[in-house]
Amino acid sequence: MRSNPSDYEMTALPSLHSTVSLLAREPGVWLPIAGGTDVMVQYAAGKLPARKLVSIWNLPELRRIDVTASEIQIGAGCTYTDLRRHAVVGHEFPLLRSAAGWTGGIANQNRGTIGGNIVNASPAADSLPALLVYEAELILISARGERRISYANFHTGYKKTLLAPDELIQTVCLPRRFLEYYSHTRKVGTRKAQAISKVAIAALGRITDGVIEDVRIAVGSVAPVPLRLKDTEQALNGRAVDATLLLLARRTVAAEIRPIDDIRSTVRYRAAVTGNLVVEFLNRLNLAQAGAERSEANDVLAQWNRLPADEAINAVLPCCGSRAWAEGMVARRPLADEAELLTASNETWRKVSPSDWMEAFRSHPRIGEKKPVMGSSAPGQSVEWSSQEQRDVTDADAAAKTALAEANREYERRFNRIFIVCATSKSAVEILEILRRRLKNGVETELHEAAEQQRQITELRLRKWLQG
Ligand SMILES: Cc1cc2nc3c(=O)[nH]c(=O)nc-3n(C[C@H](O)[C@H](O)[C@H](O)COP(=O)(O)OP(=O)(O)OC[C@H]3O[C@@H](n4cnc5c(N)ncnc54)[C@H](O)[C@@H]3O)c2cc1C
Repeated sequence: MRSNPSDYEMTALPSLHSTVSLLAREPGVWLPIAGGTDVMVQYAAGKLPARKLVSIWNLPELRRIDVTASEIQIGAGCTYTDLRRHAVVGHEFPLLRSAAGWTGGIANQNRGTIGGNIVNASPAADSLPALLVYEAELILISARGERRISYANFHTGYKKTLLAPDELIQTVCLPRRFLEYYSHTRKVGTRKAQAISKVAIAALGRITDGVIEDVRIAVGSVAPVPLRLKDTEQALNGRAVDATLLLLARRTVAAEIRPIDDIRSTVRYRAAVTGNLVVEFLNRLNLAQAGAERSEANDVLAQWNRLPADEAINAVLPCCGSRAWAEGMVARRPLADEAELLTASNETWRKVSPSDWMEAFRSHPRIGEKKPVMGSSAPGQSVEWSSQEQRDVTDADAAAKTALAEANREYERRFNRIFIVCATSKSAVEILEILRRRLKNGVETELHEAAEQQRQITELRLRKWLQG
């Protein structure tokens, strides 16, 4: 340890507002510290430039994840563990989920934050290529107000960013429009986890009628900043994947990257591996779209595809509770496999109206109760699934159940409908925590959060339904 603790001052303020006010009073004097996994390494090496630290670790405003119809808004203080555990991140942003899963070890994932990874500005940072291909935007906050910028413009050079000395990253926003894309990511390092990458790739792609409609490729550790390969993307779009295109891809990649020799690797190695990774992505994209990676049709699904419409609607209705959703699903038949079924479900759910969402919400019992709010018209299968989903709540002690019942009432008074949460594998205490957090949501945010929870419930139920 080359630093002396008595040379440093550290404070933590109760709100984001008071924190940015402090930064505004003495810009550049106070260094924010979130999880501290980068700051403490600099401290231990005696290389920390600041003497005054302000902790942002416990600021609730930076720790939330909100899901709206069009985007997911991730608080900059969310840890890798928060990201790994979030259902929408896992389902719709697998590149970010994978990066969170291989950033350091478990202890590091419990402390390291996405905001810290962005501001630390390492060209080898694991989450940043994913942010580039998902076209992330950042909300920056200071005492002067908020500004929203494209993440692609944030890193201006090696370890340089657009962040002003009095600013914090508040939120990382990702648009929810990549569900239909094929995703591919690889980290090449001495090991997959607990090692800094020599080269890393995050890529998304779509092929229609044998032709690349849209590819997005970003790489880490091969330039002073994480790099989106725009020229390569442009050269690939509108073409079929064949030997000529793979050769062209290698050439454009080599022209775009700017790797260096360092203790981890060499220019030659990095250039060759980056070309290989892009070619591997294109080959897999081609295979996936050609259907080679599709699973075989399931028996339940094959039978459902052939049912008369009314019977088919009734068969899937317990999975969601909204008739408009069930009708939308039936209109999309035949569905080939689980992946198509889940995609159809997610898309149909997004298209139905909020009054259809309400119908689905009413088909559930309150958390901690057995009978659905809509009474006997909820299908028996739905009631049975609800009781399985709430198993951990049923086993909770009396105090937790009473607290839940009280919080349920408060929620209903505030939002005029029952509280919906995907309860599977959640304890009463966890659900209570979520409920109390969501009580602070605005009406619109909360409606979308409830709809997102219903989407997750529907997805789990469809998987169960497929098992017969
Ligand atoms: C053992 C170990 C293994 C690691 N492995 C990996 C790895 O595999 N991949 C990888 O990418 N990284 C890795 N890291 C680096 C580190 O964990 C990440 O960069 C992490 O995301 C940093 O987040 P933090 O909250 O700990 O940042 P901190 O150390 O708290 O802060 C880092 C910098 O960001 C600033 N900052 C933090 N939050 C904000 C904010 N909201 N607004 C403005 N400024 C902010 C701080 O002022 C500081 O300059 C590793 C680190 C360690 C110690």
